[in-house]
Amino acid sequence: MTNPSVIGRLDIEKIRTLFPVLHQQVNGKPLIYLDNAATTQKPISVLKALGHYYQSDNANIHRAAHTLAARATEYYEASRHTVKEFIHASEVEECIFTKGTTEGINLVAQSWGRSKLKVGDEVLISGMEHHSNIVPWQLISEEKGATLRVIPMNEAGELVMDEFEKLLSPKTKMVAVVYASNALGTINPVKEIIAKSHAAGAKVLIDGAQATSHIPIDVQDLGCDFFVFSAHKVYGPTGVGVLYGKRELLQQMPPYQGGGEMIKEVTFEQSTWNELPYKFEAGTPNIADVIAFKYALEFVNETGKEKIAAHEKELLLAFTDGLTKFGHTIQLIGTAANKVSVQSFLIKGQHPFDTGMLMDAKGIAVRTGHHCTQPLMKRFGVEGTVRASFAVYNTLDEVKVLLEAVHGLTKQVNK
Ligand code: PLP
Repeated sequence: MTNPSVIGRLDIEKIRTLFPVLHQQVNGKPLIYLDNAATTQKPISVLKALGHYYQSDNANIHRAAHTLAARATEYYEASRHTVKEFIHASEVEECIFTKGTTEGINLVAQSWGRSKLKVGDEVLISGMEHHSNIVPWQLISEEKGATLRVIPMNEAGELVMDEFEKLLSPKTKMVAVVYASNALGTINPVKEIIAKSHAAGAKVLIDGAQATSHIPIDVQDLGCDFFVFSAHKVYGPTGVGVLYGKRELLQQMPPYQGGGEMIKEVTFEQSTWNELPYKFEAGTPNIADVIAFKYALEFVNETGKEKIAAHEKELLLAFTDGLTKFGHTIQLIGTAANKVSVQSFLIKGQHPFDTGMLMDAKGIAVRTGHHCTQPLMKRFGVEGTVRASFAVYNTLDEVKVLLEAVHGLTKQVNK
């Protein structure tokens, strides 16, 4: 990541004025929202776009001659264009709107997986996957007689790349890995993983749920076959996500769901499929949220991802440095060299849920639990963790308050 002094600082106070939800008291204290890996807050431009759509343009898309439908369709497709630019896809047709990361992975597992996997094939995932990049592959592997293999992690929470290479074989048909871990923050060397997987003849799906708000994404440069992410983790609305897939693969894949919009022609005997991307967008989509999503991506573009990443890195370092000073009373989980702004930890002697409740009493929102990564928790021998995750609107003052709160709790537990 780039040094903040080289790329210029952001005016965080100005940015905070764009996020109305941040300006409230929780339990009598100013809200400190540090649950950004679960979902980010939305800028006012996104909220306005949602209201504007329902007040002025609401109509179903693609299937009518009237003006409102034409407007709704135009805005919906404009969002697809913005997504294409944001992830540097070569064509808009390669960008499919989904409900989110989870649906994108299920789509690939059920469509690509069902048509391509055979008995004896292997699907390779990593030990730090979110359940949504484990369970869909378990379901389809079981159905097709394929085997799921897992790339191990070291103590810092980094993938053991030698082991990854040993696991790759002509049997490997799909490598599905997370770009940045939601529980650990680890940024994986996905470009290297993609190149090595391709050399072994496997396709690659990248779970970009946590990476997309922090790291510039260029799917062509990465060379991945599939890339999935959720709008709500990139300052956009819930219920919207993107599946990017290479045209050649998407064209070969059968539909995931049947219904309106995804067909060319239907008879009672048989149906033919619509062009990309509509083949994979059955039924009325989440029109309003897709339209508003564009404004979230524009917010990130205008703010600048490099500047966002540099600011978040400063917050992360301040927090982890502070925690380290508390010595043995704190267990850090996820100490990889290359990380997004996520830090999991435990206060020794205190259940993470209790830490979360006590933080909430001080207006601090952190996440506690297994973070939908139960196998990862097992690997580190814990039931769950406390996780602080930082976004562009968080401040060093907030980190200071968080550290004071943690310090207070460590003293309480260890007195
Ligand atoms: N993958 C990762 C790494 C995540 O962090 C999440 C959500 O936390 C998901 C997948 C699932 O995302 P969604 O619930 O938006 O489908």
